[in-house]
Amino acid sequence: MATLKLDIVTPDRKVLSEDVEYVGAPGIMGEFGVLPNHVPFLSALGIGNLHYKQNGKAFYVFVSGGFAEVSNNQVTILAEVAEKATEIDVERAMKAKERAEQRNQAAKEKVEAARNQAALKRAISRISCKSNGQNAGTC
Ligand code: ATP
Repeated sequence: MATLKLDIVTPDRKVLSEDVEYVGAPGIMGEFGVLPNHVPFLSALGIGNLHYKQNGKAFYVFVSGGFAEVSNNQVTILAEVAEKATEIDVERAMKAKERAEQRNQAAKEKVEAARNQAALKRAISRISCKSNGQNAGTC
């Protein structure tokens, strides 16, 4: 069966490069899924959990911003920020969540509120990414 080559990179580092059976990612227009032989496709990424299947097992990666490109069974994720579930520090994400919640209550301007909402979404997505990986036994 054909597989997909998945590469995830950020401006700082190569996060992973794997042969996989499926990729699901958080596009800004919603979640999208990629199986082998998918048509060429380009999407901006939102904040959330990317997941992929390898040998039938599910793996999770937190991504925030950037782009996904699919072409010739190659999925390239150029993310602004990305962490494998195994790399996520949940305590740090819990603290970031608390800070964002407190700032949300105090935010007076729309721009400030939107920035806090994004910080809150990053923290919640990191916590769920870790917990999905732990439930799948891959974290
Ligand atoms: P914080 O307030 O804790 O820095 P943040 O959402 O503002 O959270 P980002 O700007 O998304 O952080 O990321 C900055 C850098 O820190 C990136 O390299 C990212 O991978 C890393 N990072 C942030 N939070 C975590 C975490 N909980 N676990 C592991 N790495 C993290």
